[in-house]
Amino acid sequence: MQERTIFYEKVKERLIRYAKVDTQSDRYGKDTPTTQKQFDLARMLFDELNAIGAGEVRLDESTCVVTAKLGSTMPDGGGKPFGLVTHMDTAPDAPGTNVKPWVLEAYDGGDILLNAERGIVMSPKEFPNLLNYVGQDLILTDGTTLLGGDDKAAIASVMTFAEHCLAHPEIPHGPVSLAFTPDEEVGGLAKDLDLDRFGAKVAYTLDGDHLGFYMDETFNASEATLEIKGLSVHPATAKGIMVNAADVAGEFLAMLPRFEKPRYTAGREGFFHVIAVNADVERAKVVLIIRDHDRIRFEHREAYLEKCADALRAEYGADRISLTIEQSYRNMKEYVGREPYLIENLTEAIRMAGLEPKTEPFRGGTDGSALSERGLPCPNLSAGYENAHGRFEYVPIPSMEKNVEILLHLAALFGSLQDE
Ligand SMILES: [Zn+2]
Repeated sequence: MQERTIFYEKVKERLIRYAKVDTQSDRYGKDTPTTQKQFDLARMLFDELNAIGAGEVRLDESTCVVTAKLGSTMPDGGGKPFGLVTHMDTAPDAPGTNVKPWVLEAYDGGDILLNAERGIVMSPKEFPNLLNYVGQDLILTDGTTLLGGDDKAAIASVMTFAEHCLAHPEIPHGPVSLAFTPDEEVGGLAKDLDLDRFGAKVAYTLDGDHLGFYMDETFNASEATLEIKGLSVHPATAKGIMVNAADVAGEFLAMLPRFEKPRYTAGREGFFHVIAVNADVERAKVVLIIRDHDRIRFEHREAYLEKCADALRAEYGADRISLTIEQSYRNMKEYVGREPYLIENLTEAIRMAGLEPKTEPFRGGTDGSALSERGLPCPNLSAGYENAHGRFEYVPIPSMEKNVEILLHLAALFGSLQDE
């Protein structure tokens, strides 16, 4: 059986309340934020931050970014400032409207009936991660929507941490900046977070599954688009004249290395991944993404695509082939690595909370990847949710309680550092 901490009711009430607010973002939305309903949670957090007595609380009405600050409680008012960044939106991959969170107390390790009416069951046979939480209280869905513990479990922990710090000025910590951002799930990359206003020069995102995990390594990522202009003539008289753009696209696809694709790669192996092909005789367009943890190998991948394009230009004419490569984000490792205390303090705080810190290279990017590149080194601490982006998402309440503890230890460690 789990022992409930003083944070139990707080994080539980918060996650349930936040989860009921529909904040799903829109992959195809052109506005900022991509959906207006994200303001519903932003306003709730704004009011709550004011109510608990946070400083400089602000909701930017044009970007939907909420920021606030906790002042230093160190005797000399010092300590090294750091920030915490969480996202308010939920993924478009599963229904996010009408979320009905509920609590299962003392999970017994068996099948969980999520929805009697529809016969929806979550079983540890299908989701063995459930067995890590036997005896714990879980917050679950009714099997028809996602929960939104990604990333509202993190928001619940951060708000409870902030509330506790503000109610207990005798707890020593340095200045802490808080940010709640929209559109993480649709590649927003926290681009509208105003770093001057945010204040701290280093930060952590709280996102990701499995309690006690942290992450300081992501992919380097870019997106490439190959466009081919064909030349259509009647096939009967096409000899030596026709350029079939669809065929050229096929040639290009055949040049991509057979086993350097998501299906055949894991760990630190990078890949090319074709996400769209549109082709007829006159026109073709191939869109693919490039991923690699290693900067040199990543650059070689981009150069390889240039080489493919050059070969096609030599064959069909330079003006028929255009290749553009747009950078998406960079591996945060090189930025985070320059501030070694970021990971030292984080792993120390995780240990102080009684957990063994675990990490692995992340096969993706985070808002922290983009923030790191913008000058805010920003590794990630897991939010502790499970089965995100789907109808079987759940959050063990003790994971949120632990994260509050980790944040309190982290704040104390930063409080004892000098700010240069
Ligand atoms: Zn997330």
